[in-house]
Amino acid sequence: MKKIAVFTSGGDSPGMNACIRAVVRTANFNNIKVVGIMNGYKGMIDGEFVNLTTESVANIIQRGGTILKTSRCEEFKTVDGRKTAYENLKKNQIEGLICIGGDGTYTGAEIFYNEFEIPSIGIPGTIDNDLYGTDHTIGYDTALNTAMDAIDKIRDTADSHNRIFIVEVMGRSAGFIALAVGIAGGAESIIIPEDTEDEIRLFENFRNTNRRKKSFSIIVVAEGEKGGSTYIYNKLKKEFPQLDIRTTVLGHIQRGGNPSARDRILATRLGVSSVERLLEGGKNECAGMINNKVCFTSYHDAIKTKKQLPTYIYSLINILSS
Ligand code: ADP
Repeated sequence: MKKIAVFTSGGDSPGMNACIRAVVRTANFNNIKVVGIMNGYKGMIDGEFVNLTTESVANIIQRGGTILKTSRCEEFKTVDGRKTAYENLKKNQIEGLICIGGDGTYTGAEIFYNEFEIPSIGIPGTIDNDLYGTDHTIGYDTALNTAMDAIDKIRDTADSHNRIFIVEVMGRSAGFIALAVGIAGGAESIIIPEDTEDEIRLFENFRNTNRRKKSFSIIVVAEGEKGGSTYIYNKLKKEFPQLDIRTTVLGHIQRGGNPSARDRILATRLGVSSVERLLEGGKNECAGMINNKVCFTSYHDAIKTKKQLPTYIYSLINILSS
C-alpha cells in the first residue's frame, strides 16, 4: 500500500481529531501517503479529498469536533453512489480506508468492500459507547465529564430551592451515558432504555415516605423511546403536583469540548494500531480497547452484537440512593 484515506462519519465525538492525527502520523512514519476525505461518505462521492501531512494535523489533538467534518449520506446507501465513490478513490490511487464512526459507518464500509474490494479498518467514534468490541468508544469519557459538570451545577440550584431536577442526557437507544453519569453525579434514579422496571422503581421511591426527607434530588434520564425528560416530568407532576420539579436537556453540549486525556489516549492508540493493521492486510474489522489492550473485531460481529450494560454498576444505584 502506498496511499490510504481517512474520514469521519456519522455523529461527531470529541477525540476524533486526536485519532486523525495518530492515523496521519503513523502512515507518515511508514512512508504511506494519507488523504483526508471531507464530510464522510458524502465527500467520497463528491471527490472532496485533501492531502494530509504531519503539519496538517499539528495542534489538533486538543480540539473537539472533526477537522474533516462529518455527515450522514443517503447516497452511499445506493449502488450508484458507492460506484462513484469507488471511481474517485481509484482516480486518487487510494488503496485502503480508515473509517472513524459508528456501526452505520462500519455497515457502509463492509458493503463497499464486498462490492469493490477496498479494504478498511473502522475506529469507534461516538459518545454513546454503544459499540460492541470495545470497552469505551472515542468521545464517551469526555461526554461523561461534560454531563457530570452540568449535573454538579444543577445540584447547587436544586439544593438551594429544594427542587427535583430531571436531567436528560444523550443515548437514543443505549443507557451507557445515563448510567455512568447517574453514578458519577450522585443521581437518585436513572431511567434508561434497557430497563423496563426503572420507571416503576422511581415512582415507588417517590411514594416512600422516607425519601420525602430529601430536600432535593437529581433524576438522570436517557433520551429516547420512553419520551425522555418531558414524559417523566408529566407523569411525576400528575402524581405529585406539590413537588417543585424542573427539567434540563443537556443536548449537544455533550458532543463538544476538548477531549479528555482518556479519550486522547484511546483515540491515539486506536489510530496507530488501525493503520498498522491495514498495512498488515487487515480488512473488515474495527479496532477497540478491551481491558487496556487493543483488539480487533469483525465488522459483522460489531454490527450484529449488542453491547451489554455493566449490570453490576446499575445495581449500585439502589444502594447509593437509599
Ligand atoms: P454511525 O456511523 O455513527 O452509526 P450512521 O448510522 O448515520 O452513523 O451512518 C453513517 C453513514 O454510514 C450513513 O450516513 C451512510 O452514509 C453510511 N451507511 C449507514 N448504513 C449504510 C448501509 N446500510 N449501506 C451503505 N451505507 C450505509
